[in-house]
Amino acid sequence: PATKLPKVGTTIFTVMSQMAAEYKAINLSQGFPDFDGPKNLLGSVGQYISQGANQYAPMTGIPALREEIAKKVAMLYGKTVSPETEVTVTSGATEALFAAIAAVVRRDDEVIIFDPAYDSYEPAIELNGGVAVHLQLHAPAFRIDWQQLKDAITPKTRMIIINTPHNPTGSILSAEDLEQLAALVRDTDILLLGDEVYEHIVFDGHQHHSLLSHPELYQRSFVVSSFGKTYHTTGWKIGYCVAPAVLSVELRKVHQYLTFSTSTPMQFALADIMREQPSHYHELPAFYQQKRDLFNSLLAPGKFSFTPAEGTYFQLVDYSAISELNDVEFCQWLIKEVGVAAIPVSVFCNTNPEMKLIRFCFAKGDETLRNAAARLIAI
Ligand code: PMP
Ligand code: GLN
Repeated sequence: PATKLPKVGTTIFTVMSQMAAEYKAINLSQGFPDFDGPKNLLGSVGQYISQGANQYAPMTGIPALREEIAKKVAMLYGKTVSPETEVTVTSGATEALFAAIAAVVRRDDEVIIFDPAYDSYEPAIELNGGVAVHLQLHAPAFRIDWQQLKDAITPKTRMIIINTPHNPTGSILSAEDLEQLAALVRDTDILLLGDEVYEHIVFDGHQHHSLLSHPELYQRSFVVSSFGKTYHTTGWKIGYCVAPAVLSVELRKVHQYLTFSTSTPMQFALADIMREQPSHYHELPAFYQQKRDLFNSLLAPGKFSFTPAEGTYFQLVDYSAISELNDVEFCQWLIKEVGVAAIPVSVFCNTNPEMKLIRFCFAKGDETLRNAAARLIAI
């Protein structure tokens, strides 16, 4: 049959995790922690299940969780949002991203994305009749070139997707970047989709500059986050989208027919931990910075070169001092011969450029990181 997504195969995350399992390699490819979230959070889900919180949640999310999300947004970003009309709980950030795109992208609309781009954006754009316009971020800093963005904007530009902290490069936007963005979209109808799933994983004392923190930008934004990243529960698939009421209305039209609602007991448990442990947001950066620093210091004597990630739980490394292979071949070699799995970066780029960059996930126990690094520096 004719396919609607001719360019799409199995996602690289599945391919690499399967290959890691097959060769019993240490899996630093797909991004997920190899440790559990807070014990009280896990226990509380069980309690809610035994207390009967097992039927459909309200379509937009349980009120207690939407309220906690609104409180967090006020506390961290100084933005007052209505839990009733501006917060929607979704089945992971993936659903929120898809629903936002499906809600507003029309046939032939252009959506600007920055390569290397997270792999769910383009299929979502294309399935909804839009056209992905790819702009390349360049090593080593992977900053947005604002002039290049300005030149790429056309009357057909419907949306710009901004991912900060950025997967896979680990770069973050500054307050100045948000001003540049505001200047570019002012006096246009362009909408913004902020993929901020790593909002709480920012290092070296830097701040996360959310679209929510910028009142002018927020007026045209869908801002997406994921509890999977924040509470080490990627398998729960719960995320949310905060957007002005007029945009949330449109998002919810899609959400209600895509999934309708998401897991009830987990929403109750997440609402409780948000209420009881607001300090978690301040502890998470140090927790992951220790892992980044451990991994990078162990890797430093080897032949990989890298600039420390500013955010996310990924470290990009350049292997050009090691091999002539392209990055996909190099990752296959690394699994088979070295016993460590990583993600090749060119697969996140439209043009599959010749780049010798791979991504390691350091959301792993310290022993796992030590074992992986020992193999990697022995190359
Ligand atoms: N966006 C980015 C940049 C991500 O890294 C991820 C998680 N891999 C997602 C979206 C999807 O998040 P979720 O697992 O909550 O669907
Ligand atoms: N977001 C995760 C990553 O970047 C993977 C998510 C997935 O496997 N779909 O590795």
